[in-house]
This record gives sequence, structure tokens and C-alpha cells, in this order.
Amino acid sequence: MSWVPSEKSKSRGASRVKNIIFMIGDGMGVPALYAGMSVADHPLNIESFPITGLQKTFSSDNYITDSAAAGTALACGTKTNNGTIGQDPQGNHTKSILKIAEENGLSTGMVVVTDITDATPASFVAHNSSRSNADAIALDFLKTDLDVFIGGGYNHFGRRADHINLIDSLKNKGYEVDTTMVAVGLSNATKLVGLTDPLACPYRLNGRGNMLPQASKKAIEILGKDPKGFFLMIEGSHIDHAGHDNNADVLIDEVLDFDEALGIVLDYAKKDGHTLVVVTADHETGGVTIVNGNMKSHTVKLNFSSKGHTAVMAPVFAFGPGSENFTGIFDNTAFLGKFLSCYKFK
Ligand code: MG
Ligand code: ZN
Repeated sequence: MSWVPSEKSKSRGASRVKNIIFMIGDGMGVPALYAGMSVADHPLNIESFPITGLQKTFSSDNYITDSAAAGTALACGTKTNNGTIGQDPQGNHTKSILKIAEENGLSTGMVVVTDITDATPASFVAHNSSRSNADAIALDFLKTDLDVFIGGGYNHFGRRADHINLIDSLKNKGYEVDTTMVAVGLSNATKLVGLTDPLACPYRLNGRGNMLPQASKKAIEILGKDPKGFFLMIEGSHIDHAGHDNNADVLIDEVLDFDEALGIVLDYAKKDGHTLVVVTADHETGGVTIVNGNMKSHTVKLNFSSKGHTAVMAPVFAFGPGSENFTGIFDNTAFLGKFLSCYKFK
């Protein structure tokens, strides 16, 4: 069963978008994706998306973006300088799609497998001139109305340099705070924080397990109860770090993990019918090329041309009502307007 945009759904008012799930593979270029597709012995979920596009990732001060500027562009629709979170180059705060969804009464959530204060998730809730001010970024999480967020980064809430205990603050705001995925899985809370690691979560090959698919499922379970709808951001955070490490095995495994989470999301969206799923990367990492491979033995050989990010266009995939807005070549600042035209807030 697959969702195909019909003439009817393209017309005004048809097939309302109630929920948006925005999935970001940090550093996930087309070669990394295709390496995952080639190694897997089954078609990946990403291959079933009916709509594809490409987006330009440059930041306001650099042809090659970092995850802070790219995250701010994806979340808030504003180009900014590398390293900057949720504000423009002049320091004016920018408003994210997550915040706008919140203001319109929707439930919101984020799921990552690194420090939750890291640049990508931070761009959706925080404002800071430097992505490295993690303790300050954690404070901004207390100023939001997120219904669920799951990732690493416990130390920025519970073991801070200023000794403020943000774990207690979260509990006072009505959150259940869990520190293991077992507890997250068993939780019946309607407001849930999962902080499973002191800082970043480990690579899946180093023992993270199925955290990303499991946490994605839990977030959808909580947010899906809201009759008004929700916005959820899910990040495959470590594809980027594997690219920086030039580690092909980890890179491919993290792509496959991201695709498993994608399967959970697509299953929900297909059943729901009012959920738009958009998948992209904030930029490519590692300058990955595939220099050899074999479709029968499911093997590939990767070359890396960089220890950092590159400027190539990032792939875009969309499924569900409104997905037709995400085809063609566009700028990374265009997502916000497209999301808003789908939600049609009054
Ligand atoms: Mg990231
Ligand atoms: Zn990076």
C-alpha cells in the first residue's frame, strides 16, 4: 500500500494535514543512502517514498554549512551563520515550525540519538549565538511546551556547571523523566522526557540497540493522542559523526537504523492518512563516494574525500498529504513555508 498524490489531493482543501513528522538524517548524503540500500538484503523504506526533491544547504556565511545553521534553516526558514542556533546573523530570534505548531495548539516532540542539546534539535527550541553553549540551550527546553523529547544529554539538565537541577524543573512542569529506554518503553506518561545517556548516545554498533525506532514509536504513541495534531522531529544523529570519522561500517549501520525508524513512521502515516512525512539531511558529511560494490554479495566500497561536511545538495523525500510540495530543487529555508501551507493554521 502506498500513498500517491492524486489530482484530488492536489486541489485546495483536500486531505488535510494534521500531523507532520520531519526526519533529518544528519550528514546523510545520497551516497550514504545508496550504500545502505546496496548492503541491505531487502528494499529500504526510503525507496518507497513517492516524492523526491533536492535542497541547497549553504549557510549565510559559508558555502559549506554546519548543523547549527542548517538546523536553523530547516526549522525556522532563516539562513544564519555557522554555529548559530535559532537566530539570524544579526542576533534576532527566529521562530521554528515546532514553536509555531505549539502556539497553534498542536502537540510537539523530538527524538534524537545524540545529546538533545546538540545543534539539530537545539535549532527547533533554542536561541543561542553558539551551538556549544549546551547548558544554556538546555534551559531553553524548559521554555517550551514539548510533550515528549528523547535522546542523550542528561548532564546538561542534571549535572550542570551552575548546579541548577533542571531534572526537578522538568518534573515540576509535569514531565516523567526516564533515564533508560526500558523505562521509556514502559511509560504511560502523557508528558515524557527520556535522557538515556550523559552526553551523546553510542553508535548502534557500540550498543545503542534499537533506541531510534523504539523512541520514535513511543513519541508517536504519545503525540498521536492529540485530536488537533502534532509536529515531531526525528534525527538520525550519528550518520554525521560516522562521516566525520570516515567509518564506512558505522555510516551504513546508522543509515539502516534511521531507515528502521522510517518504517515505524511510514506504518503510522499510512494508517493515519492525515500525516505528512518529510525526510531530508541537513548536509552531506565525509564527501562519500561509492567506488565499488556488488549487488549480489551486498557489499560496497566507500571512499571519503573529507573529514568534514560538503556542499552537495541534500536529498528530500515526502509521503502523505501535502507531499507534492516537496519535489524539485529548493533552498533549505523553504521547508518552513511548505510546512505552514500544509498545516493551514487559521
Ligand atoms: Mg545533528
Ligand atoms: Zn557534522
